[in-house]
Amino acid sequence: MSILDLARPEIRAIQPYSSARMEASGGQVLLNANESAWAPAGDDGAGCNRYPEPQPAALIERLAALYGVRREQLLVGRGSDEAIDLLVRAFCRAGEDAILIQPPTFGMYAVCARIQNAAVIEVPLADDFRLDVEVVLAAVTPAVKLVFVCTPNNPTGQRIPRADIVRLAQALAGRALLVVDEAYVEFSEDDSVAGLIDRHDNLAVLRTLSKAWALAGARIGCLLANPEVITLLRRIMPPYPLPLPCVAAALAALTPAGQARAQEHLAIVRAQRRSMAEAMQRLPGVRAVLPSHANFLAVRFDDAGAVYQRLLAAGIVVRDVRRYPNLGDALRITIGSPDENDRVLSVLKTTATGGRGLAVGSASGEGI
Ligand code: PMP
Repeated sequence: MSILDLARPEIRAIQPYSSARMEASGGQVLLNANESAWAPAGDDGAGCNRYPEPQPAALIERLAALYGVRREQLLVGRGSDEAIDLLVRAFCRAGEDAILIQPPTFGMYAVCARIQNAAVIEVPLADDFRLDVEVVLAAVTPAVKLVFVCTPNNPTGQRIPRADIVRLAQALAGRALLVVDEAYVEFSEDDSVAGLIDRHDNLAVLRTLSKAWALAGARIGCLLANPEVITLLRRIMPPYPLPLPCVAAALAALTPAGQARAQEHLAIVRAQRRSMAEAMQRLPGVRAVLPSHANFLAVRFDDAGAVYQRLLAAGIVVRDVRRYPNLGDALRITIGSPDENDRVLSVLKTTATGGRGLAVGSASGEGI
């Protein structure tokens, strides 16, 4: 059986759009794409009169080396958000198929499924936020085409042991694609599971340059997967997803100098995560700081709504995650620069000793 037997048959049959950029081999007079012959005004637009490469060879090569996969095992898109969307559209038939998630987790899996009119089967994480493999497997019905797991998980910060991922991939073979979202893996001690793709054709891994590589504004994310899955998704992706300036920003960030800079900031985030957790744990009004392997802390308060308002009044916006199951009265606080983190602590100290703030309703929306 091919992994593509799990995909929507009509998607497999689609004749993809043939982009003009693919017809040119370089050094030719380009009159095949109705582009302008002149560069736009301004330095930032250099080269932008031409459509960009759909999957830029230099970036693919660099990212494949970074993530330890072959080029044909990698798809680059507008953030890993786009890869999530493409997966759901390619594998889930509207009104028939389903995805499986373990709340509390990243909101886009369910949002993409709902847009596609795929069902969302929720298997809540245990009280300590560990993923129970057998409970997840017991909930997999024939309609489930994609099982999303997030490690380290957003918004809880906990990790999933590699052995659990292997067990899931094995048990789901021939039944569903296991999509492991590693958006925050650089902040943890764990190795990526991307090396397991060769052994499990139903394993796919999401990576992003938005977090550890400081490129959220450039929107570059990847899917690492079996080449058959990558080829299928390339066929349904819009023709020119990656703007030239974004690709240039990514290539600059991935140079040895850029890598050194990213490593330096990773070390700061890890150290700050530890010191922030220790400092917050000691404050009255703080019930628990959940152990985190990511660049944020989920913190339970006696009154998270009041803390949220006091931080806001001090000009600091954190994420209100009270609406997520099991999290309780919690906020998710990103680890910022040491100065920013000190500002958070000083507000929390006054919250702990000072008056009570206003209670607020839950923030709306799915995205976390
Ligand atoms: N996965 C997780 C777990 C996330 O938290 C996020 C962003 N918040 C994403 C994926 C999407 O990242 P991007 O589209 O920026 O690559």
